[in-house]
Amino acid sequence: MRYADIVLPLAQPTYSFAIADGLELQCGDAVAVQFGPRNIYTGIVWRLHDVAPNVKRIKTVSRKLYPQPLLDSQQQQLWEWLADYYMCTLGEVMRMALPSLIKPQGASAEEFAAEEFQPRTESFVALRAEWQVEETLLAEIERIKRRAPKRSEALQAILTFSQKHDFQPFPRRLLECDAPLISALQKAGYIELSQRERVIESRHDLEPLLPQLTPAQQSVAEQIRQSQSEGRRVHLLRGITGSGKTEIYMTLIADVLARGGDVLLLVPEIALTSQLIERMRRVFGKRVTTYHSKLTALRRTEAYLRLTASEGGELVIGARSALLLPHRHLQLVIVDEEHDQSYKQSDTAPRYNGRDTAIYIASLRGAATLLGSATPSLESYANAIGGKYGYSELLERYGNATLPQIIISDTVRAVKRGERKIHFNHSLLNAIGDALQRGEQVMLFQNRRGFSPFVSCSDCGWTMRCPHCNVTLTLHNSTSRMECHYCGYTAQVPKSCPHCHTSHITPMGFGTEKIEQTIEQLFPTARVARLDRDTSTSESAYNRIIRDFENGDTDILVGTQMISKGFDFGRVSVVGILNADNLLNSPDFRASERAFQLIMQVAGRAGRRDDAPGVVVIQTSEPDNPVIGWVQRGDYEAMARSELHERHTFCYPPYSRLLRIVLRDEDLQLLRRCATQLSERLREKFGRRVVGPVSPPIDRLRGEYIIHLMIKIENGRSMARARELLGEAMRGISSRSEYKTVKILIDVDAQ
Ligand code: ADP
Ligand code: ZN
Ligand code: ZN
Repeated sequence: MRYADIVLPLAQPTYSFAIADGLELQCGDAVAVQFGPRNIYTGIVWRLHDVAPNVKRIKTVSRKLYPQPLLDSQQQQLWEWLADYYMCTLGEVMRMALPSLIKPQGASAEEFAAEEFQPRTESFVALRAEWQVEETLLAEIERIKRRAPKRSEALQAILTFSQKHDFQPFPRRLLECDAPLISALQKAGYIELSQRERVIESRHDLEPLLPQLTPAQQSVAEQIRQSQSEGRRVHLLRGITGSGKTEIYMTLIADVLARGGDVLLLVPEIALTSQLIERMRRVFGKRVTTYHSKLTALRRTEAYLRLTASEGGELVIGARSALLLPHRHLQLVIVDEEHDQSYKQSDTAPRYNGRDTAIYIASLRGAATLLGSATPSLESYANAIGGKYGYSELLERYGNATLPQIIISDTVRAVKRGERKIHFNHSLLNAIGDALQRGEQVMLFQNRRGFSPFVSCSDCGWTMRCPHCNVTLTLHNSTSRMECHYCGYTAQVPKSCPHCHTSHITPMGFGTEKIEQTIEQLFPTARVARLDRDTSTSESAYNRIIRDFENGDTDILVGTQMISKGFDFGRVSVVGILNADNLLNSPDFRASERAFQLIMQVAGRAGRRDDAPGVVVIQTSEPDNPVIGWVQRGDYEAMARSELHERHTFCYPPYSRLLRIVLRDEDLQLLRRCATQLSERLREKFGRRVVGPVSPPIDRLRGEYIIHLMIKIENGRSMARARELLGEAMRGISSRSEYKTVKILIDVDAQ
């Protein structure tokens, strides 16, 4: 008897099944199995063996779902690594890694069948056998030319395509004929029509239209090739905004595609990089496959299945989930904006870091990794200057474009001198006015959406808070509601104070909505648009905002970090950062690094062409904050030196790795007891490496209190051993019935 250990999409390890007679299985195959009283799941065959499991009645697996395995052995290794390193189960990896339509499940056989993936079909055309002789058909085409010129023309096209396809059926859509004409040809007995599985071709034979690299770009591309050929697997490119990193990527991608290898280009959030995809499509045409959460489940499933059978030469552009696709011929992974925080999945298991996973996959497949950023993460930078990664810099902008001039505008001083109007210092208003007069564009950044981040009673100081989360509710003018940005709770805008019953309720602070409204009042003739989560609810709405700005139909674009990502708009000469303070003052040890990265990235949108030099105005009440100084001088290295020194002193990453333990419960007393006990157990094993229990800045979400514990594992210590010890301590706690309601999760390499 043969057996298969199978992974099911549950938070559990593998299960053993007997294999029905005559069923041929390979590791990585998807199968339908019954589990529990009646549920039917898709499972992945993990291991085949002939050791009878020690159970009374073993279930049998009797059906395979796809002709080819969904995973190859390297993907199996990747799943195991993810489960092991990020401390979750293979089932949780499976849930995340496979698109939903690929893995149907159901409460009954009928339900399962209804969920099963049906490949899309389309009509195919073929010449009937008697017309497959070229001379005969050509004579016929000639004969009917006068009487039926359209039919004759269509037959000519059909002949051409038939010859290309060895007279096998080919997709009808390749013909530019309307349906009535096709069916007339069928009735007249020339052709046969059939329904077949739609083939999605990604390849094309055109040579890519590569940009001509500048000498500086050329030399960086050479350095990267050199470092790869010397066997250094990872290379970091620090290229300032507008230096042409994308052009360097294109050149390296073309190298690999020409050799028949696959390339994966990872981007932080795909919806925010439609411009990059456009540029890649212009160069690589149909070879580009995109993969991200905004695609329909069908498109994702088709992409996945197509890649399981690919012969190589694929360029996949995707968000971090694209790492889990079958990249069978992978030779290069590029991680663009490698410092971006959104590469880390934090909300659901596996809580993996896309950049680190990219490096792991590349090493599994013997591929190279290129990390690119204007402001690399300190982790990557430390690896680069320490010699572990190859390293190149590109510190000039393309063409004659120069870096924008950076003006620090002190909000406190502006108020004192009467040089401030609503939320704008005069220096920013003047810069905007000048730009508009010259017909140039403006981008205004505020990292809060909505109208006001809170409303408060001007008599007693009461603020309106979310009943489920420990945060204030944001006032949204567009919906005239108060909204919680964490749980989605909404409420009416209060008319009076529930405490002192006066009606002196005032909106406080400002978000993007208010900036948009204010700027429209200050510059009534300017065309203003806003880009944030509220205005870009669909991909098309998002694309329209970008297109209008690109075409010059909008003068001023107000937005959240959404406007900071990789955009290349040629006519932006002024960028305003309305309030740098809330970036500088976060309690996180990464706050300075993050603030520097974000401000540099936003600032980098200005002056990207040589004809319109840019100005960036940063409003802050802390002009002496060191981050502001580094930003003003564009001095990444000074930031890195100072921050690395600090991290070293306090043993933070990159000098350690962080294991964060998040505990949640509705009962605060119980939660505190549980956290204290766990921390004591951990201290027995980890000593002073344990930090906490501490309350995070937002210590209650969706009705649950939250407490954090953290373990710092200094470099050189075994993470595997640490995870083991942590696992032991956790089991000790979760086996106690009094804590059974407490949810405990582990975030490895927490951000
Ligand atoms: P980065 O990604 O480093 O911010 P980009 O790749 O967006 O920079 O380049 C900035 C601008 O300069 C883009 O409009 C790009 O098309 C242009 N550019 C850069 N290098 C070249 C080149 N070698 N040839 C033509 N245009 C280039
Ligand atoms: Zn009040
Ligand atoms: Zn809430």
